[in-house]
Amino acid sequence: MKTIGVIGGMSWESSAEYYRLLNRHAKARLGGHHNARSLLLTVDFAEVEANQRAGDWHALGEQMADAARRLERGGADLVILATNTMHRVCESIEQAITVPFLHIADPTGAALRAAGVERVGLLGTRYTMEHTFYKGRLRERHSLETLVPDEAERADVHRIIYDELCHGSVDSASRKVYQRAIDSLAARGAQAVILGCTEITLLIKPEDSSLLVFDTTALHAQAAVEWAIESA
Ligand code: GLU
Repeated sequence: MKTIGVIGGMSWESSAEYYRLLNRHAKARLGGHHNARSLLLTVDFAEVEANQRAGDWHALGEQMADAARRLERGGADLVILATNTMHRVCESIEQAITVPFLHIADPTGAALRAAGVERVGLLGTRYTMEHTFYKGRLRERHSLETLVPDEAERADVHRIIYDELCHGSVDSASRKVYQRAIDSLAARGAQAVILGCTEITLLIKPEDSSLLVFDTTALHAQAAVEWAIESA
């Protein structure tokens, strides 16, 4: 099995989930005492979050490139970035390393298309819902039309990620906020919803959603393990 390098810490609550899912999937595939061979590099989220708020995506690109280089030097055969938002600077990562980089939107896009979905709702941070890097990739590479919540709902979805989920707080009133946002997306024609932030899986399980759920954390971790096994 090849070694998966994970750029994590954004937040560590979701990186812990990645770690569990990588190993769980490797065990499901290979049985016995198999783990996923992996390296997890945890960046300091305080620095990342401050640069996001300042809009300094150049500095963020440098931070992610540095983390990716360290993983490659440590022996990673593949690098994954355990946050949707930071994929805005994925080109900086791709340019910094010689090993492959597995973009989080690709396994999600492929799973949606395999399920016959053409129009999908997207929940995530403001950066992911409002900037073009994520919706554009889904459109160009996966022919998916993406719907996002209205301005007031986007503000709530974003706030709950940073103020609650990234601190490990899972609140039932916040779950209702997300459920209402999913219901509005369904009313506007979404056939499924992307949990497009790696912490949302802590709050929304498939049974909490009126739409079919596509969880980027689980799909990304699973695709990385498949790659590690198949490329060995
Ligand atoms: N984990 C989140 C995501 O998937 C948000 C935290 C971050 O800003 O990286 O977008």
